[in-house]
Amino acid sequence: MASRFFVLGLLFGICLAADPSPLQDFCVTDSTSSVHLNGKACKDPKLVQAEDFFFSGLDIAGNTSNTIGFLVTPATIPGANTLGIVIGRGDFAPNGFSPLHTHPRASEIVLVLEGRVEIGFVTSNPENHLFTKTLEVGDLFVVPKGLVHFQRNVGEANAVTITALSSQAPGLIRVADASFGSDPRIPGDLLAKAFRIDENTERQIQRRFSNMED
Ligand code: MN
Repeated sequence: MASRFFVLGLLFGICLAADPSPLQDFCVTDSTSSVHLNGKACKDPKLVQAEDFFFSGLDIAGNTSNTIGFLVTPATIPGANTLGIVIGRGDFAPNGFSPLHTHPRASEIVLVLEGRVEIGFVTSNPENHLFTKTLEVGDLFVVPKGLVHFQRNVGEANAVTITALSSQAPGLIRVADASFGSDPRIPGDLLAKAFRIDENTERQIQRRFSNMED
């Protein structure tokens, strides 16, 4: 029976991965440890303090002077180690955007604190249905785990979001970077066929990615 589910999982691409459940109340990161394991090593519980579960600074705007006009500032909370959550602040300059990407290990929930943000995700094959919404201050939107999504500032001024994800290590795969910015490069003729463009256009796109600063 188990093997049948395994085969079904392979056939339909079902992903059952999730952060493992902790076996203790907490495992505050021991930043001095050189032990490598799935997560980070735990500090001696007797040395843990309230400060370990605290972070201050998400009121500080991130620097959006980059090619996409967007920056995520993650909150680093030692006490969140192994708890399967992560949170950060998103800053958008006018016209700033978060390009098409996925988080292979996490669902994402986005709260708008300032400005107007358009957000959308696309369901898996064969539907490839786009769900999209323009969010105002106080609005929330959730992006299911693993699906390709984007955000962009559609207001006149800066926009600010708070984003939480359901994994300690959500992962980030940007669709355009993975396609045109891989190292070494994916063969150009293959990319041209996959994107249904001619090879000259494909070369032009690859050149732009190799010139990118980030
Ligand atoms: Mn995302």
